[in-house]
Amino acid sequence: MSNCFLLSPTDPSLGRSNPGAHVLRRRAEAKTGTPARWSCGGSSMVRVRCETRDDAFYMRKCVELARTAVGCTSPNPMVGCVIVKDGEIVGQGFHPKAGQPHAEVFALKDAGSLAENATAYVSLEPCNHYGRTPPCTEALICAKVKQVVVGMVDPNPIVASKGVERLRDSGIKVTVGVEEMLCQKLNEAYIHRMLTGRPFVTLRYTLSFNGRIINQLGKGAEENGGYYSKLLREYDGIIIPNDLLMKISTLPASHETGANQPFHIVIAKGVRSSLQLPALSARSKAKIIVFAEDDIKVEPEMEGIEIVVLEKITLSSILDYCGNRGLCSIVLDFRGGSECLSELLEDNIAENLVQKAIMEILPIWSTSEGTSQLPSAWKSLTLRNLESRTSNESVLVEGYI
Ligand SMILES: [Zn+2]
Repeated sequence: MSNCFLLSPTDPSLGRSNPGAHVLRRRAEAKTGTPARWSCGGSSMVRVRCETRDDAFYMRKCVELARTAVGCTSPNPMVGCVIVKDGEIVGQGFHPKAGQPHAEVFALKDAGSLAENATAYVSLEPCNHYGRTPPCTEALICAKVKQVVVGMVDPNPIVASKGVERLRDSGIKVTVGVEEMLCQKLNEAYIHRMLTGRPFVTLRYTLSFNGRIINQLGKGAEENGGYYSKLLREYDGIIIPNDLLMKISTLPASHETGANQPFHIVIAKGVRSSLQLPALSARSKAKIIVFAEDDIKVEPEMEGIEIVVLEKITLSSILDYCGNRGLCSIVLDFRGGSECLSELLEDNIAENLVQKAIMEILPIWSTSEGTSQLPSAWKSLTLRNLESRTSNESVLVEGYI
C-alpha cells in the first residue's frame, strides 16, 4: 500500500488526487538528495512525502524507536516494536534500559485491546525466557496478535530462534528477516559481545592534514550535536591512558541532552603508587574503572571507582573484564603522544580486538614533534563499508576492520 502525504497543501491541484506530484518529487530528490520543493502559481511552496507502508516501513519505525534509548540499554540490545492494525499504528514502544520491560510489553500496553488480530513488528526476536521480566512471546500470545514480523533472530543462545518457534507453535504467523541488515547495524555491539564475550571496539583518532596523529579534536566535535559528543553517548566506555590524563583538565563526556555517560576506563600502566584523575565534567557521576599493575591509590577519592589489578595489562584482558562487566561497546580514543595506547595495540595484533575505525582529518598542518603512530605491524587489511562525511571544518572517515 502506498500513501502520499501533502505536508504543506497550498495548492489544490497537488496532493493525493495528483499522481504526478510524487513522481515529480522522486525525480527531484534523485537529483538533489534532499526533499523536493517547487513553486505552484508563482507563490506557494509545496512539499510532498511519499512512503510505501509495507513491512520494511514498519520495521524502520521499530529501529527509529529503538534508537531512542541509545547508550542506555547495555548489556541488553536496543529494541523497538510497533503494533499495526488495518494499516494504522495502534501501539508502539521501545526497551528503555536493562531491568525495565521490553519493547513488546510497552507496545502491547499502548495498543490495549486493539492488539487482537493485529500485526506486531519487532526489530529483534521476542524473548522466550524468564529473566528480569516475563517472556515477551507469552505477552504477544495473550494479546492474541495474528502475526509477528521480526527484524532479526537474537544471537543470545538462550533466545536464538526459541522465541520464533514458541510463537509459531501457538499458531501465530511469523516472518523473520525484514530490514535485517538495518536491525543488525542497530545492535552491532550487542551482537559482537554475544558472539565473542568482549565489547565491540572502535578506534578513533585525529589526523592533521600532513598526516600526523594529533591530540586535538575538530571545531564543535565535543559540543552538543558534535560527532565526538554523540559517539560518547552511544558507547558504553572510553579507554583513556594515564599518559593522556596529564594533558586533559576534565574527563571526556557527552554533551547530548539526557546522555547516559560512558564508563571511563583508565589504563594506569607503569603507575606504582598513586594516580591523579582530572575533574569530572558537571554532567558525569563517577563511573570509572582503573586498570593497574599494582594496588595503587586513586585521587581524588570518590564513589564509583573500581580498581582492577592485573599482572599484565593487555587489551584482551581489559576487554574480557569489561565484557563480563556488561559493557557492549568501547571507544579506544587514540591521541597523539600516547605511548601507552600504542603498546596496547601492538600487543594485540593477532586477536582482531578492534572492529571499527573512525578517522577525523583536520584542516591544519601540524608541526608538533613526538606524535605517535598507529601500529605498522598490523596484518595487511582493507577497511570495509567505508563512509565519509564532513563535520564543521573536519572530514570524518569510518569503516569496519
Ligand atoms: Zn522480551
